[in-house]
Amino acid sequence: MSPLLSLDEISCHYSTKNGLVRAVEQVSLCVNPGETLALVGESGCGKSTLAKVILGLTPVTSGTIRFGGVPINAFNKPQRLAFRKRVQVVFQDPYSSLNPRLKVSTILGEPMWAHGFKNDLVKRRMTEVLEMVGLRQSAKDLYPHEFSGGQRQRIAVARALMLEPDLIILDEPISALDVSIRAQILNLLQDIQDQQGIAYLLIAHDLALVEHASQRVAVMYLGRMVEMGDTDEIFANPEHPYTRALLSAVPQPDPSVPRDSSLIQGDVASALRPPSGCHFHPRCPHADQQCQQQVPPAFGHNRVKCWLSQSTQTQSVHRPTSH
Ligand code: SF4
Repeated sequence: MSPLLSLDEISCHYSTKNGLVRAVEQVSLCVNPGETLALVGESGCGKSTLAKVILGLTPVTSGTIRFGGVPINAFNKPQRLAFRKRVQVVFQDPYSSLNPRLKVSTILGEPMWAHGFKNDLVKRRMTEVLEMVGLRQSAKDLYPHEFSGGQRQRIAVARALMLEPDLIILDEPISALDVSIRAQILNLLQDIQDQQGIAYLLIAHDLALVEHASQRVAVMYLGRMVEMGDTDEIFANPEHPYTRALLSAVPQPDPSVPRDSSLIQGDVASALRPPSGCHFHPRCPHADQQCQQQVPPAFGHNRVKCWLSQSTQTQSVHRPTSH
């Protein structure tokens, strides 16, 4: 299957008054049509910067992004417009992402009007998407403050659906919501994907969320991808010590089940002054001198960036694997 979106060795560095921030370092991944790829890591690991890079909101420093096989920096004007229709985003906080001064009908209509669609088409699509997200048609005449948090996120999802996208970037789509309604929004997103075949790039900071919501998972640490593979496989057999630490922090329904004791210690270092060698070494219980001095390459099928994987795996060929 040809990937819908592929990132090949993407880096994103930017200057601040305190120095150069290396927010994303040589990240390669791809998203296939109709699948959910989860991008996981603690805050500050670069995953939201990566989303902005894909959306064209932050420039890449190096590397190539392809959509439908075509490098996006080589897009002509019609391709650029098509890309803006086919890739949409849902942000974390439905309280700040919806303009409080606009009625829902305007919030939903704006993306289509911006692309020159006629009003009758916009109205027809609005009726469809409100039904898809489980909101009454009368919601069109109301303002965002007249809805609960979960309903607002449904409006944000509806807006993302207006242009019939192929890919939606979900940037922490449930973390600002009450725990009681998180499952409803996740189920809604799953139903929409099943019906419409839309691919999701799901950005999340905890692995508990992604276990049931994604087919593949990519784990980021301080700007680098450290492991990527099938979600079932990563959950059953995490290789990178950072992935293992993240998983050990996932609450277990059965407290009698023994847990890995390698709960993660300390904070993520600053991308302004990342540690030498393996970025994870100051927090890793297995770190040795080699870890402090040399950046591990990607080993094996799951591209595990850890020297411990060297003995069991061969170094992987650098490519944005689809699987
Ligand atoms: Fe730990 Fe070394 Fe592996 Fe980094 S390379 S995760 S410091 S063992």
